[in-house]
Amino acid sequence: MDKADLIITGAVIYTVDSNFTTAEAMAIGSGKILAVGSNDEITGKYAADLVYDLGGKAVYPGLIDAHCHFLGYGMGRLKRADLTGTRSIEEVVERVQQHHQKFPDLYWIEGRGWDQNDWDDKQFPDRKSLDELFPDIPVMLTRIDGHAALVNSKALVLAGISAETKIEGGDILKENGLITGILIDNAMQLVYNVIPEAGAEEITRALLLAQDDCFAVGLTGVHDAGLETEQVKIIDSLQHAGKLKMRINAMLSPTQENLDTYVDGGPYITDRLSVRSIKLYADGALGSRGALLIHEYSDDPGNRGIMLTPPDTIRSICQQAIDDGYQICTHAIGDSANRMMLHLYGEFLQGSNDLRWRIEHAQIVAPEDFDLFGKYSIVPSVQPTHATSDMYWAPDRVGLERIKGAYAYKQLLDQLGWIPLGTDFPIEKINPMLTFFAATARQDADGYPEGGFQSENALSREEALRGMTIWAARAAFEENKKGSLEPGKVADFVVLDADIMAIPLAEVLKVNVMKTFIAGQQVYSR
Ligand SMILES: [Zn+2]
Repeated sequence: MDKADLIITGAVIYTVDSNFTTAEAMAIGSGKILAVGSNDEITGKYAADLVYDLGGKAVYPGLIDAHCHFLGYGMGRLKRADLTGTRSIEEVVERVQQHHQKFPDLYWIEGRGWDQNDWDDKQFPDRKSLDELFPDIPVMLTRIDGHAALVNSKALVLAGISAETKIEGGDILKENGLITGILIDNAMQLVYNVIPEAGAEEITRALLLAQDDCFAVGLTGVHDAGLETEQVKIIDSLQHAGKLKMRINAMLSPTQENLDTYVDGGPYITDRLSVRSIKLYADGALGSRGALLIHEYSDDPGNRGIMLTPPDTIRSICQQAIDDGYQICTHAIGDSANRMMLHLYGEFLQGSNDLRWRIEHAQIVAPEDFDLFGKYSIVPSVQPTHATSDMYWAPDRVGLERIKGAYAYKQLLDQLGWIPLGTDFPIEKINPMLTFFAATARQDADGYPEGGFQSENALSREEALRGMTIWAARAAFEENKKGSLEPGKVADFVVLDADIMAIPLAEVLKVNVMKTFIAGQQVYSR
């Protein structure tokens, strides 16, 4: 008998290999999959001290979130009041107070997640109540999409923002000449600039908090969309010390330090970390009307959104990426931003290629532009829960014509025949079951709308699972190492308490993770 470290039997193993085959058993050794097959095949060939009979439970490759903010999520858990789901400015203020009572030593009060579209009063809030409660403590409360923030007067003073301040690529909202406290896109940076940066200890705590939550929902890999040199170095050292087991694909922000430290030297790849991509921003977000549109907003005549990075800046970073073997991943929401990026990428990519440059979100695409993804082999990296979070108000923003090319995941999938899926957490919840459900049912948790939102763009269950495993791996050049359960690949897998490929779709959101394994090691058990 051959020796294995762990044998799984009696399971329904979705290998997610090219034929989408299932198996009953697998043998694992040295953190990798040795063999996959029937119970008899595996137990007839391998012996191990640890044998798990899963009693018919379903097993999937470890789930990968192809676009999220892993560190940002952990930092939020540690430092920021969670404002998601609030129904009014009063409730926002209440949560901020609770947070302040929990962490009275924090000088800055931060919060994230409010969305005035969910309120009875859909106007942007103002700084009045924050000023009354916190005259001496700076407060910054970021909108759900991260593209707008409400700040109090103390924060405005510290940031040096006055009614005369002008900012390119952003806006400081005013009413009767007075600053309301709402800052849009680049204007927020003025405040971020004066918030003290988190030190190594805070970053470490945040990463470990994020990891625990991810394991509990079956995530074994994440693509973190925008990290800095110091953060990547802490990740690398925590992984080497065995404390951080999560596999991380780190997209770098295009700072000079990042370019000098990492990009110049070419990709940096270890067992659990890969650094080989640069994250850029073409435009803002749709909720705050910062997404760059070809024509004006349907609900805001004259406004076409905001371009966040000048094309020539993007070009020079693209050139550096070509020179140093890096991948480019650019945030593009509006149809104009997508068009700009598709053509700009095309200047470098020329025709079909395997550089896997990505457009993050690819949220609104003009009908005539879809083919450019195929033409230049550009990877659309999408987040299905955005469709079901935005579907209530997105048609107001862009109108009934343009909305047809929005959240068009099936149409995008058809361009290359594969598509990576993510969540953009903490903007959305971290649970990948929500992604699976949103991608396939195109409904919210209440089953709304009946039949699904633009259901012609629903993915099949197989496509959704591939998008969360092998295609997500592929989007980071890791499809030969992970993303499917095949001999030679890492033994990252999850056991769920129901089979999401077989149960009624409406039950998917009730599914729990029983166990999560990374490199054959159990990292979570329910
Ligand atoms: Zn993001």
